[in-house]
Order: sequence, then structure tokens, then C-alpha cells
Amino acid sequence: MICPRCGNTTWKVDRSLTVDSAPIRKQISRKMMDRAEQLVGDYTQDYVVRRRTCEKCGNRDHFVEISFADLEEVIKLRAAEDQSD
Ligand SMILES: [Zn+2]
Repeated sequence: MICPRCGNTTWKVDRSLTVDSAPIRKQISRKMMDRAEQLVGDYTQDYVVRRRTCEKCGNRDHFVEISFADLEEVIKLRAAEDQSD
């Protein structure tokens, strides 16, 4: 993953959160969890949201991690939705 600010490719994971991590949920902003839910939540609840910090410039960003199989299904689902629009 390339940092959009400096082009560096090494990131440090700060925080990780799954759908079931309710007690530490506030460590990842509600907005980011809602975005992940919007992107993949209707297909799978088995995803992880991670906040990473660029090791070079300190830029922070959020990432969604799902399995390859789930990602392929989400892409198919979205393509089918686009065709029905
Ligand atoms: Zn950076």
C-alpha cells in the first residue's frame, strides 16, 4: 500500500477491530466502521478494520481486510448491482 502523502510503502498497524470487538469499538472511529459495513457488511461480517500509520511521514489511514473468497463475492455482488441500476 502506497502512502498518498509521501509514497512510502511501509505502514505500522495501530489498531485492529472486528465486528465483534464491541468493548474497544471506540478505538476505531464510528465513521470508519460504518464505511466498512457499507462496503462489505451486507455480504460478510467477517472483516477487520485496521488503522495504520505511515512509518515515514506519520499519515494515518484505515484499511478493510477480508478474505480473497469474500472479496471476490463482494466484487461479483457489486457488479450485479451496477447492472441492475
Ligand atoms: Zn507517508
